Parts: sequence; structure tokens; C-alpha cells
Amino acid sequence: MPFPLFRTLPALLGGRLLQAPADAATEARHLLLDSRRVGLPAGAVFFALRGPSHDGHRYLPELYAQGVRLFVVEENAALPGGLGAYPGAGLLAVLSPLAALQALAAAHRAEFAGPVLAITGSNGKTIVKEWLAQLLSPDEDICRSPRSYNSQVGVPLSVWELNPVRHTLGIFEAGISEAGEMARLAAIIQPTEGLFTTFGTAHDAGFASPEQKLREKLQLFTGPQLQRLFYCADQAPVRSAVAELKIPGFTWTRQPEQPADLHFTLEAAAAGTTRLHAKYPAASLMSEFTLPFADEPSLENALHCLAVLLHRQVEPAEIQRRLLRLHPVAMRLEMKPGRHGSYLLDDTYNNDLAGLALALNALARQSRPGRRTLILSDVLESGLSRAELYARVAALLPAAGVSRLVGIGEEISQLKVETEELRGSTSAIGSIEAAGQLLTPNAQLLTEFYPSTEAFLAQLNPADFAQETILIKGARRFGFERIVAALQAQQHGTVLEVNLDALSHNLQHYRRQLRPGTKLMVMVKAFAYGAGSYEVASLLEFQRADYLAVAYADEGIALREAGISLPIMVMNAAPDSFDLLRRYRLEPEIYSFEMLDEYLATFESPASHFPLPTPRIHLKLDTGMRRLGFDEADLPALLARLRPHAAHLPVASLMTHLAAADEPAHDDFTQTQLSTFRRMAAAIEAALGHAVLKHALNSAGILRFPDAQFDMVRLGIGLYGVDASNTADPAALRPVSQLRTTISQIKTLPAGHTVGYGRRGQASSGERRIATLAIGYADGYDRRFGNGAGTVLIHGQPAPLVGSVCMDMCMVDVTDIPLARAGDVALVFGEGLPLPALAARIGTIAYELLTNVSERVKRVFVSE
Ligand SMILES: *Cc1c(COP(=O)(O)O)cnc(C)c1O
Repeated sequence: MPFPLFRTLPALLGGRLLQAPADAATEARHLLLDSRRVGLPAGAVFFALRGPSHDGHRYLPELYAQGVRLFVVEENAALPGGLGAYPGAGLLAVLSPLAALQALAAAHRAEFAGPVLAITGSNGKTIVKEWLAQLLSPDEDICRSPRSYNSQVGVPLSVWELNPVRHTLGIFEAGISEAGEMARLAAIIQPTEGLFTTFGTAHDAGFASPEQKLREKLQLFTGPQLQRLFYCADQAPVRSAVAELKIPGFTWTRQPEQPADLHFTLEAAAAGTTRLHAKYPAASLMSEFTLPFADEPSLENALHCLAVLLHRQVEPAEIQRRLLRLHPVAMRLEMKPGRHGSYLLDDTYNNDLAGLALALNALARQSRPGRRTLILSDVLESGLSRAELYARVAALLPAAGVSRLVGIGEEISQLKVETEELRGSTSAIGSIEAAGQLLTPNAQLLTEFYPSTEAFLAQLNPADFAQETILIKGARRFGFERIVAALQAQQHGTVLEVNLDALSHNLQHYRRQLRPGTKLMVMVKAFAYGAGSYEVASLLEFQRADYLAVAYADEGIALREAGISLPIMVMNAAPDSFDLLRRYRLEPEIYSFEMLDEYLATFESPASHFPLPTPRIHLKLDTGMRRLGFDEADLPALLARLRPHAAHLPVASLMTHLAAADEPAHDDFTQTQLSTFRRMAAAIEAALGHAVLKHALNSAGILRFPDAQFDMVRLGIGLYGVDASNTADPAALRPVSQLRTTISQIKTLPAGHTVGYGRRGQASSGERRIATLAIGYADGYDRRFGNGAGTVLIHGQPAPLVGSVCMDMCMVDVTDIPLARAGDVALVFGEGLPLPALAARIGTIAYELLTNVSERVKRVFVSE
């Protein structure tokens, strides 16, 4: 496949070659946006993107050290170390590296002569894309976007994978969040066919109105090369907008009177299946199909796919065969504790090269010390020889730090044989040489191979994986869920599911509120508000937060031992020695003269047995909270203590905490706090002779006092999806945590009988069905929810608490939920049971409910 020479890029993209690469024949082969994902440095071009809280130029030295030699940077950007720091590298300066990335992908797309289908819409894009790929794969060699890579950077990366020689069809999804974005995606994808899923009318912050959003989305389909747009004619706004934009359509409908190319009628059939009658008058075709599901979203998604298949005139019998093999698209990555101190990443997304690369990225992000292991089945990728396929797999492993590979399957096991042949022979040739790379790029890689999952399970001893971080990645038919079950720690019925995508979403929401350059400290005290400190901290490190904060040194030490390297502030380090803080690079908040004196004493007599620097400190100023910190009246004494050390005292920041940032009634008080803080900070900075980082705002403050961001803010509960200030658009934050338990048993209670301790729950009005749930106050489920104050959701229906909450269980009334059975899931909080409303019922706040979930409740971390 022809890749452009790097030195020809100015002609293609514009811009100025700051330095030609030493090797004039260097091709631009891989696009690289993230310094943590260097796979193959040879031929990788790094695009230095800049965002509100991110500047790709900072990572140039790190990338250069890793062997990357091609860079596209912003015109006039300061290059760390200057041009001289990058001998032999090629550097191109352009006005916008993002625009250059997109233009390069567009030029690459233009090399492909085959059909390209673009998908957009409010819901179902990813599933429809994945299903179409499943349904069409017998006929086509398809290049498609991995997962939901549909953004301004995701689309160029996806399109870059199109191979004009090999692929026969491209399927790409496009998603936008602001006006003006779709035209850019259309120029990259240049679709010859389009598919519009659904039009959701939910309010969207990036658009003036839903109509504007719809028109913007349809921009994807207005190019001259577009032959047809597949869409459902039952949504009137879509119909009229498509007509107005003169987009050629191919339509389907479920309404008998609606004119359309295809008419579908659905009818419920045997357990969980649906009968479908399809009429395609133009091809004088009438056929019936059985769909292997009954839920509305799946039916809708399947009809979109059927329209494409019928238009291509695939034989109905063949369509039916493929439909029955359609499987739900699992797009979750679950992270959970394993047995013997191991930690599992269970990724159920497709095991092709793109899916494997994404899963390995997730592994690369883990900071846990210890060995990293990959349990991998045969990789499914049509069109590549085994040797080439596994050479590519091998190239992905070092960047993720994999040092042990367990290969399961007939194909992958062949590598063992081939590698042994290779080692035995003196001439390494052809395909054997390529396959052998699976073992040779990293001499430290331990490998073991099994022909089947059964063969692996038969000899499995979970202790052999003690302390390892294990990525489990298998194609569906290998049934790797059995391996996960064997390796995971025992789970009792109650689970706190933490959605890491929602967490990232909330982080970005708060970041958007910050002025450029404002730093972000994130509070991960109290086990990250109950969510799990290591996983949250690890995500924050990946998302490049600037600081973490914990309440006690113990919490900071646990993070360090789990491999977290961000700076960590400790709010209440009082009884701990500075040596301990020093050893773990923890930075104490100093809030009293006693602490300051103790610190200064250590500082003056540098402990010779500790060659590490004295910890940096944060001075806490009390401006009205009346909890911890130096008062304004203390200022003269404080300045007198600081002055003699002004030149070298490592003061990392000055901070204060607002008492009522979330309450408009106290805004005058808050303003007084802020002006006191400004005054005190100015005096301290004058005494020290230099400026210091200043910060005051918590989550509510970030939203309500944008003028008081100073140099940094301290995000807390907002990250976990709770808006303490009630000012955010309710749709702006996503709930992060979901607490679930299961029904242990159901009993029928005759009228007049009582339930539980103290006989407080009484069945008064006739016979009741009572379910016992596997959660009690020892799990953190508050006793105040007893006797009707609380409800849980079972099958989406509310079930009120009956009787008192016990230590390990509680009872709910399920008389009105006849479907409820032992083993069913009961939702305690999460989607449908928002924390603030639940908290209000028992007179507390969301903070308490979150942090009360006890450590014995297993945390499972998911991302999509
Ligand atoms: C907990 C805490 C925060 C974060 O508060 P939220 O209301 O959760 O945003 C900020 N600053 C300090 C000093 C804190 O203790």
C-alpha cells in the first residue's frame, strides 16, 4: 500500500518543513496521537494536538527517546529543547496539527476506490456498524471503525486503516458534539453510501435546537459521491430534512400507509424472538424472517441492517442464516480483583487486531507493579496470513508491557511449532521468520500455548497467576468467560459497578469550565468517594490530572504502592512523621504552627540517612470554614516563621476551603472568604518573595465561582456524577456508580404476619410477597432506609423496604412485581435511583451514601 514520504507532506498538507528526516525515504505509516501508545516507532508520525488541558508538544522529548522520528507540530509552538534536541527527525510545522491529521486521512481515503458506508444518528451507531460488519463479512473484506471511534480524531485514525489493495468495503461511524464538526468528518470519510439510525430530540448543549442538530448530522451525506442514504421514513423531521437537502434515499417503514422502499411488519413469536414480514415491491420480493431478539432497540437496529442487505439483494435464505448468528455486541471492559492478588481486565469486544490493540491500551494504562500477562485466543482477521497476523500481534505487546503470553487455539498454537523450527534451522526465511517475531522482539516474553480453552482449564492453577495483571481477550467461540470465572475473586451478591467512561465524561465536563492553564487537583480521599482509589487514580493519571489529594497518609501510601506517580497532597498528615511522607513523596497540608515548627525542624536538619528531598508543603488558610488552617490574625506570626526560609522553603501551594460554595444564600460570605484569601495569599507571597500556586474551589465552586479559579481547583463529588451545586445542566453529568445486590429468597407472608427484627414490618392489607436481599448496613446500606423509607428497583419497578435493615440483609415488598425471582438483581442506587433524591429521604447527602459503601462490597470497573 503506498504511504506518502514524510518529506512530501508539505505539498499534501501545506505548512513548512522545519527539518527533513535524516532518511529521505521515510514513509508516514502510522498516525500517533498519544505518547503512551507508541507501538512501532518506525514510520510513526506524531501529531502534537493541543486542547484546553493538554498540549501534545510537551511529549516530544519522550517520543523522540522512544524512537519516534516524524512530528507534525503547530507553527510557532515552542519545541522543548529547541530543534537541536531532535537530530535526524523530520518536523513539519502547520497551522493546525488536527486539520493536518484530517487532511492526511482524507488524502488516504481518496486512494480507495471501493464503496464506503458512513453511519450517524443519535443512538445505535456502534451496534449497527458492528452488526453490518458481521452480516456482510461473508461477502466483503471490511475495514471498520474500532468500537466507537467516531470523533474528530477517531475518524481519521479509523479511515487511515483502509487498505486500498485488500479491503472491499469501509464502514465508519461519525459522531459530533458541536456545530461545524460534521462537514470535516464528511470530507474525511467521503461516503458513497450513508445510514442514519435515529434522531433523538434530547436537548444538546452544542446546538441551538434539535432541528439544527439534525441538519448538521445530515451534512455527512451531502457530498457529490453519495449514492443513497438508508433511513427509516417513520420520523417526519428526518424525512423532510432529507428531502430538503436533496439526499437520495433508500427508506424503510413500519407503518402500512407510509410510502417507502421497504415495508416491515413485526410480530412477537416464540420466547424472545420476533417474526418479521418484509415487502420490497421494487424487487417484487416478499419474505419472512425470524429475528433472534424481542427488545425494541435490537429490533430497530436489525431493521437498519436488513435494509442494507435487501438493497444488496442478498438471498433471503442466506439473510436468515446470517441473522440467526447475529450476536449482541459486547463492548465492555471489566476490571476486577482476581484470586491470589491478581487483577483481571476482561475485555469482551471483538478479538481482531483493532480490538486487541484497544484492549492492550487499557492494559498499558494500568500502573500496578508486577508482571503483565495476556491470555489470548486465535485472533480473527480475514485477509492476513498467519505469519503476518501474529507478527503484527507481536508488535503490539511491548508497548503494553506484556511479559507473559498464554495463547489458546489451534492457530496460535502453531506458532510454537513454527518458532521451534525456526530456532532449529539456520536460515530464517519467509513466513516462519515473521511468525517467529512473536517470540523474538522481546526476549523476556514467556509463552505457553494450548490448543483449546478446555486444555488450558484442565491444567489451570490460579496461583500461577498470583499478583499479575491479566488481560483476558478471546474471540467469542472460545468461551473465555470460563477462564474469567476461574481466575476472579469470589463475589458475594452485592457489587458496586463503577463506570470509568462516565468518570472521564464528568472530568471533561469540569475541565471545560476551567480557564486555559488552570490546574486540576482531584480529591480521591475516602477510597475515592467510595468508588475505589486505585482505579480512579489510575484513570486520572492517564487523563493527566495535575494533582491528587487524600485525607490521610495511609491513603497516599496505598496509591504509591499501587504505582501511582502523580503528586499527592495529604490533607491531614498530622500524626505521621515527615520521614514517612518523604519516603512516599506525599505533600502535607500544613494548617497549624505546631505542624509548621515540626516541619521546619526537619527541614533545617536534613536527615542524612534519607537522601530524598523534604516534602513540598501546602499552607492551609482558614478564611471562614473554621475547621483547619491559619487565621488572618495568625498572619504576622506566620510570616515571621516563613521569612528566614523564604529562599528555599518548598511551598507548593496556598489554599483555602469554602464553607458554602453550593448555597446562593451565602454568596456574600463566600465572596468575603475569597477576598480574605487573596489578601492573605498576597502577604505570604510577598514574604516568600515569589508567587505560589493558589486554590480555593471545590466542585460546586467550580460551577458557581468561575472568577475564583486562581491557579488550580479541587474537584471532588462532581467527578462521581453528583452536582452538589444544582447548577449544571442535569444531562451534563453521568452517574458513575451503581450499587446492585441480588434476591436471596422470596417468601409469601399471610396477612397480619410480621417481617424481621422487632417485628416492625407488618403485612396488613392481605397476603404479601417479600424478597430478602443480600445487602445490609454492614455493606453500607443505611438503617434509616428501613420500614418504607427506602426503595430498590427490581425489573425496573420500585420495591419498598419492609421491616428494619439487618447487618447483612434487608427485605423488600415485591407483591406488585410478579416477575421477581430468587437470584434476580435489585438496584440499590444508580440510573433511575439518583443519589441526591435517595439521600434526601433519610436526611443526609449523596457524599455519605457514596462513602458508606463498605470495602467488603466488590467493585467492578467497566468501560465501553
Ligand atoms: C473534599 C474536599 C474538596 C472537594 O469537595 P467536593 O464538594 O466534593 O467537590 C475540596 N477541598 C477540600 C479541602 C476538601 O476536603
